[in-house]
Amino acid sequence: MNYTRNTLYQAILAFTITAVSACSATDKNNATTAADSLSGDSITAALPAQLRKPKEFIPNELGKVMVLEYHLIGAPENEWRRTPENFRRDLNMLYDHNFYPVSVKDLATGKLNVPAGMTPFVMTFDDSSAGQFRYLDKNGKLEIDPDCALGIMEDFKKRHPDFPITASFYVLPAIKPTLRLFAQPDYQKQKLEWLIKNGYEVGSHGWFHVPLNKLDDAGVQKHLAMFVKEIRNFIPGYEAESFALPLGMHAKNRALESKGSFEGTSYNHKAVFLVGSVASVSPYSKDFNPLAIQRVQAGDTPTGPEAFMKQQDKHGNRFISDGDPKKISAPATAKDQLKPGLEKRYQINWLESTAK
Ligand SMILES: [Zn+2]
Repeated sequence: MNYTRNTLYQAILAFTITAVSACSATDKNNATTAADSLSGDSITAALPAQLRKPKEFIPNELGKVMVLEYHLIGAPENEWRRTPENFRRDLNMLYDHNFYPVSVKDLATGKLNVPAGMTPFVMTFDDSSAGQFRYLDKNGKLEIDPDCALGIMEDFKKRHPDFPITASFYVLPAIKPTLRLFAQPDYQKQKLEWLIKNGYEVGSHGWFHVPLNKLDDAGVQKHLAMFVKEIRNFIPGYEAESFALPLGMHAKNRALESKGSFEGTSYNHKAVFLVGSVASVSPYSKDFNPLAIQRVQAGDTPTGPEAFMKQQDKHGNRFISDGDPKKISAPATAKDQLKPGLEKRYQINWLESTAK
């Protein structure tokens, strides 16, 4: 089955990029945060003006979405470590191939506001090592290391205002010092505050990375609630909105991965992530479960982001936005993939195809 240009739905090819607003990336993040707590209308918040113009495209909002998973940033490159140079290259690859950053929350709730022709993706970091967020002391003044992941993302965002990058950091508050809250003991609080203030998410990766299959029901709740309690020592009132399973291992009682309590501290995760292996299905798919979202492990491997993108382009199953957050556009052949009930919240736009 192939889509051709000369079909009855050629009209949909006329999708154009609407330059809604020239607001900065920071404005966008603030708008999203403020509006999210109010109503579902937050998804219509203005997007930054787009400098990229996808040529011709067919929307497919039931296509795959990648949640990228990074661990160490530094040298040398290996399975669990990406060099700063390669991380920059990853951002350029995403930018050049019409990817558009969205938050974990937007993905989990399906409230995607992505420019027409673009593919949403989510950026995540596990294990809170210094290479992800490092401060440098420059004559008594703290600066974000331009070669740590955060420094690289912030620099990229400044130079590409149409790419409002954000990320979720799955941190560890009570593990060995090299992985404890970005491994600079003096700046733990400052870093967590900086991330939250600047539109990044601090998520749970457990108390000290114990795989949940090794714990009984009480232990799972203790580890996940103690995470919240530890972070509240730095950020009063903090709630963990999302959670990345340590080593991707499930609890015996999976309900406890998202909800539970221990000694008066409770947690209620809206999203739970597995360890990287494949791209996620669309949040509009009947198979999408926000409490078991797949991720793609970063790296130049056959299961890395670029390889998945090429496969998706080859098979035509990459998520491509129609640009309208209130509408779901997808090939009519994927009708059985739509999550039941979404037709009440969205206008559904099935696109007919022509066999070649
Ligand atoms: Zn981990």
